[in-house]
Amino acid sequence: MNLGLESKVALVLAASKGLGFACAEGLYLGGANVVICSRSEENLILAKRKIKNIGLSKHNNRIHYIVADLKYEEQIKHLVEETITEFGRIDILIHNAGGPPSGPISKITKDEWKDSIDLNLLSFIRTTELILPIMQKQKNGRIIAITSVSVKQPLQNLVLSNTTRLGVVGYAKTLASEYAKEKILVNVVCPGPTLTDRMKELIDITAQETGKSEKEIKKTWTDQIPLGRLGKPEELANLVVFLASEKASFITGTVIQVDGGFIRGTF
Ligand code: NAD
Repeated sequence: MNLGLESKVALVLAASKGLGFACAEGLYLGGANVVICSRSEENLILAKRKIKNIGLSKHNNRIHYIVADLKYEEQIKHLVEETITEFGRIDILIHNAGGPPSGPISKITKDEWKDSIDLNLLSFIRTTELILPIMQKQKNGRIIAITSVSVKQPLQNLVLSNTTRLGVVGYAKTLASEYAKEKILVNVVCPGPTLTDRMKELIDITAQETGKSEKEIKKTWTDQIPLGRLGKPEELANLVVFLASEKASFITGTVIQVDGGFIRGTF
């Protein structure tokens, strides 16, 4: 299938590891020029090298990295400006960010609330508002926000995710409706339990808190997943790459989970 990604420019946020990394790799393999960002230059250099080595692109496309902490508006501004300086356009925005700390409502501090609102909600709004005029000028654009299955059903011990990500959905659905006439298509993708560094960290924390083994904690997740296993990052990336492609030209305003059947509700 020709995805029509050649010569497109994709900005993939929080992409040195995990789901963001898998999306960057998929888009690069599909032929897009890709900009990856995260807070650590060292990790970005490794990620760029890994994508170039594994992903033997048949196209003449490039991959570029920019260091940015998405909690800060100034750094987001720099990220968008440098992408434009490097490639002159932005066709695809994949919004992703580090996950918030876990814990019940009673344990979350004021600073953690502020950080999570900045990182998981405001960074999406701030990046989008800078990129919208660029996409409007180009008369096309794809915006895909990576959230969590917590937008379909609140997850235990993850109040920050349960709360901030619903704001992302509300903003994305509004964008989809207001900008469809300008051919800017917006969708939300919701990962279920997927084996990345973040997931390994959550398993470790739960093991420490409960005294159970890693194997037992993993089983409490996989027992809830009809497909009986955790997801792989590339399984989420496959959907993201498709939504970013020319093949997804009549899909906007959707909120789709990639979760092995974890969410059983009908919406
Ligand atoms: P990960 O920890 O493996 O990777 C996160 C990436 O974000 C890394 O590249 C990291 O450097 C970057 N990052 C973190 N904080 C940043 C910041 N302030 N500024 C810029 N970059 C930053 O995580 P992951 O599993 O790939 O998860 C990605 C997102 O998806 C998270 O928000 C996570 O909560 C969410 N999610 C993950 C799962 C899962 O099972 N993996 C499930 C649901 C939701």
